[in-house]
Amino acid sequence: LFGLPAVVPATPQPDTTRIARVQLEGAAAMELDYTIPASLAEGVVVGSRVMVPLQNRQMVAVVLELLNESSHRGRLKEISSIVARRPMFTPALLRLARWIADYYLVSVHTVLRTMLPQAVRDKPGSFVMDSHLKLLRDPSPAELEKLMNKAPMQARVLEILRSCQGEATLSQIRRDVPRAATILKPLIKAGWITRSEVRVERDPFQEEVFLPSQPLTLTAEQQVAYDRISAAIDSAQPSKPILLHGITGSGKTEVYLQAIARVLERGGTALVLVPEIALTPQTIERFKARFSDRSDRIAVLHSHLSDGERHDEWFKIHEDRADIVIGARSAIFAPLERLGIIIVDEEHEPSFKQDETPRYHARDVAVVRGGIEKCVVLLGSATPSLESFENAGSGKYELLEMLQRTDGRTLPLIRIVDMRMERRKGTGVSIVNAGILSEKLRAAITARLEKREQTILFLNRRGFNTSLSCITCGETVQCQDCSIPMTLHKHENRLVCHVCGSRRLPPSKCPSCQEPGLKFSGFGTERVETAVREVFPQARIARVDTDTIQRKNQLRDLLRDFRAQKLDLLIGTQMIAKGLDFPNVTLVGVLNADLALNLPDFRAAERTLQLLVQVAGRAGRGEVKGEVVVQTYAPHSPAVQFSRHNDFAGFAQQELEQRRAFHYPPYTHVVILASRGKHQAMAEFALKTLHRRLLEGLSEEVLMGDPAPCAMAKAHGQYRFQLLLRTPKIRPLCRHIQQVLQSTSLPADVIVTWDVDPVSL
Ligand code: ADP
Ligand code: ZN
Repeated sequence: LFGLPAVVPATPQPDTTRIARVQLEGAAAMELDYTIPASLAEGVVVGSRVMVPLQNRQMVAVVLELLNESSHRGRLKEISSIVARRPMFTPALLRLARWIADYYLVSVHTVLRTMLPQAVRDKPGSFVMDSHLKLLRDPSPAELEKLMNKAPMQARVLEILRSCQGEATLSQIRRDVPRAATILKPLIKAGWITRSEVRVERDPFQEEVFLPSQPLTLTAEQQVAYDRISAAIDSAQPSKPILLHGITGSGKTEVYLQAIARVLERGGTALVLVPEIALTPQTIERFKARFSDRSDRIAVLHSHLSDGERHDEWFKIHEDRADIVIGARSAIFAPLERLGIIIVDEEHEPSFKQDETPRYHARDVAVVRGGIEKCVVLLGSATPSLESFENAGSGKYELLEMLQRTDGRTLPLIRIVDMRMERRKGTGVSIVNAGILSEKLRAAITARLEKREQTILFLNRRGFNTSLSCITCGETVQCQDCSIPMTLHKHENRLVCHVCGSRRLPPSKCPSCQEPGLKFSGFGTERVETAVREVFPQARIARVDTDTIQRKNQLRDLLRDFRAQKLDLLIGTQMIAKGLDFPNVTLVGVLNADLALNLPDFRAAERTLQLLVQVAGRAGRGEVKGEVVVQTYAPHSPAVQFSRHNDFAGFAQQELEQRRAFHYPPYTHVVILASRGKHQAMAEFALKTLHRRLLEGLSEEVLMGDPAPCAMAKAHGQYRFQLLLRTPKIRPLCRHIQQVLQSTSLPADVIVTWDVDPVSL
């Protein structure tokens, strides 16, 4: 995984380097060589954007390398001009692009596209401009009065300027004088003011104020971790990536903050990756508050920004006006220079993997970028991915552990409720029989309501009922385009497909056998809300999922109300599982721990454990010890048992043994080849053809399955098949796959995709 690209950009030698290898932008994904005319010799560097002639057109291209000679025979054309002298890509990012292209089997062109936010790609430098007006001298009362009589609007502008220390922007003045733009000229001519054009940053945090926070005195465990990290920061030698395994509340963020401070002191920059869902205002606030003396030098990159904000944040980094970048997955491509540290928080999160081409994993890319930039890479998690944990075990990474909470409190008490028993008991409460609330959980909630403490109920499934099936033939009503059961959303009385979003009225008879008698079963958050309101009519309840939360401020306001204890109970999906810190929550109920456990994926147990630990971490963050009630039909599964005892290492050891025995990651790499198309037979044929071709010359150490329908055999109206390959050595397999893909012609209406190191099957 961590081999560096073979091609290192040559150091330019002014006298001998006359050739540039460029990557064309736009549709043509080609690398070509051009000579550099003497007049441009100074300006063309690795990463520059240039104009080059191609056939009869001029194209924009990025300079990938400078060469002394070209492997291309025949006369080379000349670069026409320079578009942007300042390279859009740092040399390190270009090397990274090569690595990603090789590793994930995509073109460098595709990677370079991915590296820039769309707004930057399409309209680089499209800033919002404003006029900055400056009062040159104060008018005397007499002058002002004279002007007032002659040109009252002009006088008004002068007055406004005077009231704000003689400086303002045109748009500020427009609030009072709508037609201010037209009356500037006479004012300038008369020598009252000057006008200059300035850029207006579209800053997502413009209106927020951050109270400065001071570094905390580290606990003993934090100190040990910090000392190691700062030694790595100070060291001239490249260090191994560091895995910080710290339980929830052990103070990982404080360690990140102090490590970043250390990097800044040394003149370096820091990049922090956080899963999109954890990139809440609260998270960013912590960074802005700690570095409040330079909070304008913090850039944020994530998908909730407007295009304009993203454009400006990117340029802020590009123009070296930022030294801390906080962002989600794609922020790994932030064009920071002098990188001192890359931090990946919650490194186990599957959302770090991009689910479209190029399917890169930002955590793995972070490790590679760290190698190229020779900076410290710090991966943090309460439940590290087994890949990283194994890398730490084998000595590839350095392991740091923090197993105590900073407040010295013990972790919440975890109670497992065996729902099989609950159902058999049939305690008479209908909700219990529907499998929603066990007697234990009901009692625990009652106790919280009496004590005015708060409760979170977690269920990672939206909707009311999760399936509708026929009592005669047993068929389930499925989406016509996707082979999954449709979910009832009762408030709108529609069946909804959670894959493609299509909606329909619930049918009155079975679409399959035409008999009446359809039965709803399974429950989602909407049903839970109804049930809980029924059982606790006095409780103040809110639900958080993508159905109830449509606007970004809605979630913020709701969480604020919950924090202010205007609500007693919060029901939610994974939107509430992460990062939230509510001191008065003393009870967390996990309504169905088995949802992830039943996935047809070798990582099912790992995902379940991650979820349980994460959700449990929401309980007991304040003075009172927390309690977690986990409802499950599989009480003895390792994920449930180990999370109960908070024994991550125990779980990892047992799970890793299994993975080794069955040749799964981290002991092998997985590659998934998939086909999809409107015609089932064609999609299957395509994959069978590839399977046959792959068999020729397949290395013995590769395990290849047979083409099979995906777990979701149809989605968005297309049939889907997949083929799973596992190998201890990824590079030779990828080369083999690439050769086969290049030399096999496939039906035109079938799409073939591949995924190297997928995070789900
Ligand atoms: P994690 O990210 O590991 O879950 P946090 O960094 O969020 O943990 O820390 C949990 C809580 O402990 C926070 O409220 C934080 O302010 C507090 N905290 C962190 N370090 C210290 C410390 N050294 N002394 C006192 N409180 C601390
Ligand atoms: Zn669908």
